[in-house]
Amino acid sequence: MNTQDIITAAQAVHAAILTNEQQIESLDRAIGDGDHFINVRRGCEAIAVITPELVPLSPAQAFNRIGMKLLSTIGGASGPLIGSFFISMGRELEGSAEPDAKHFARALAAGVEAIKSRGKADLGEKTMLDVLIPASRLLLRLADEGCDQGTLCARLKEAAEFNMLATRDMIATKGRAHFLGERALGHIDPGAKTSQVALFAVCDMLTIGAAS
Ligand code: ADP
Ligand code: MG
Repeated sequence: MNTQDIITAAQAVHAAILTNEQQIESLDRAIGDGDHFINVRRGCEAIAVITPELVPLSPAQAFNRIGMKLLSTIGGASGPLIGSFFISMGRELEGSAEPDAKHFARALAAGVEAIKSRGKADLGEKTMLDVLIPASRLLLRLADEGCDQGTLCARLKEAAEFNMLATRDMIATKGRAHFLGERALGHIDPGAKTSQVALFAVCDMLTIGAAS
């Protein structure tokens, strides 16, 4: 993975977020305050604006730049969480021009750890972490086993879909949805949905890229 792959992935995520506008928006309207789609779209647009600046950067610098930009543009609870996710990924990739799958898996794990510590949340609290923690663990394991990219992406997508849907049956203990108690049951967490959409977009981009 090089900086151009990061740029292409960001564009794929942006397009996928726009495609899923209605669902993301209605989920946050149901158990949050309805701004999650707008927050995430604002983040994607900010990355699109700085894309020319990213081109000459290393992957570490590009992730750091993206994280800093997101910290200052996305509002809500998710802004600082997503911003620190990318900054920590960048820190893990320092010194590498083209990290391999194992190194990228370690970077993703560092990013997820940053969300956990910043949000003081863990698995089972009905947040984006319910998709991101299992995805990160799976990627670490499959990359370590030397799994091919096609299988790896298919397995990641399968897990992300399953774990996103599983948030429907959880009571939130973090974020705005925790004020709702049992009334949050039956609704998918918006952050879990955007995480699944983003993961699908990156996996599809990698799979199509590998096939061409
Ligand atoms: P806000 O809740 O401030 O309106 P957003 O609507 O942009 O911010 O984001 C809401 C999402 O943020 C939730 O669906 C959840 O996935 C995630 N989230 C909220 N609090 C936390 C936390 N402490 N740790 C991890 N994720 C969180
Ligand atoms: Mg919200």
